Amino acid sequence: MRGCLKGLRVLITDPVDDLILETLHGAGLEVDYRPTISRGELLNIVEGYDALVVRSRTRVDREVLERARRLKVVARAGVGLDNIDLRVASERGVRVVNAPAAATQSVAELTIGLLIAAARRLAESMELARRGVWKKVLGTELYGKTLAVIGFGRIGRRVAQIAKAIGMEIVAYDVVNIDEHAVKLGAVPVYDLYEALRKADAVTLHVPLTPKTRHLISWEEIRTMKPGVILVNTSRGAVVDAEALLWGIEEGIIGAAALDVLEHEPPATEAERKLAEHPRVILTTHIGASTVEAQRRVAEETARKLLEALAEAVGCP
Ligand code: NAD
Repeated sequence: MRGCLKGLRVLITDPVDDLILETLHGAGLEVDYRPTISRGELLNIVEGYDALVVRSRTRVDREVLERARRLKVVARAGVGLDNIDLRVASERGVRVVNAPAAATQSVAELTIGLLIAAARRLAESMELARRGVWKKVLGTELYGKTLAVIGFGRIGRRVAQIAKAIGMEIVAYDVVNIDEHAVKLGAVPVYDLYEALRKADAVTLHVPLTPKTRHLISWEEIRTMKPGVILVNTSRGAVVDAEALLWGIEEGIIGAAALDVLEHEPPATEAERKLAEHPRVILTTHIGASTVEAQRRVAEETARKLLEALAEAVGCP
């Protein structure tokens, strides 16, 4: 493959691990690293590039793809492809590659961390400690409680496996058949979202963002949940309707919410801003895949797949 990719130009528009840059340089590509590029600048320069590397910040929509006349490959250094218009990419013969499994363990570990933090009200206790106020906050155990895992894919299954070790009962909900996986992990498969929500002491979301999962958790779903339930979202912010969530917390239906993601990051709507400041909400800054290990794995897999896809696109031997 080596010499044959020489001179092809790659634009990287989000922060990525150095390993991606080193690998692409090593293959003879010309690499422009612009991790904070604005939308306007991207639209101005994208036509000069053969490949684009993005994370979740850069929107690769019809406008970008139509301007990118030389573009052969879009590489998403991570999992979710919701910021890339796959239909337009396919229409224009642009290949899209990603690193689907690289962050599974990191996101699963964060999910369990958030679940424990919510159950033990860590944020409130840490705030008291910071202020020198040695007051107890009363939490709950997870042992023996039921966790509904919504979306029983790679991350959902890993979360279930770890939660099992804590002694939780798992109900797993998905739109595809998950019987085999569920049996293997000692989880109960259910194919009705409301049944899963009714049973759960804690709910954790692991679906991709699609038109069908946008606001999957909204007023009606929250009304179905047990009072005091914990809601964890490390999938995509828009899977939860922020206004409904705020209502659910204020009504006491949701005892605590732990969110790594919001529909707008940073918070942009009134409901999101109120959630960010709410004492019963733990909010992190979309750090699910932000570990040394996950970023290395993402970098290796993204660079390898990008080079393979470029080689195929230009007909390298
Ligand atoms: P996956 O594709 O392995 O699993 C997703 C599962 O959701 C699949 O089993 C699929 O059938 C199911 N699903 C799809 N639509 C559904 C619906 N309407 N109802 C119920 N289930 C549905 O994906 P994954 O690797 O487990 O990733 C899960 C999520 O985690 C994605 O949203 C991804 O973007 C997100 N993620 C977040 C971070 C982060 O930094 N917080 C990092 C990586 C991934």
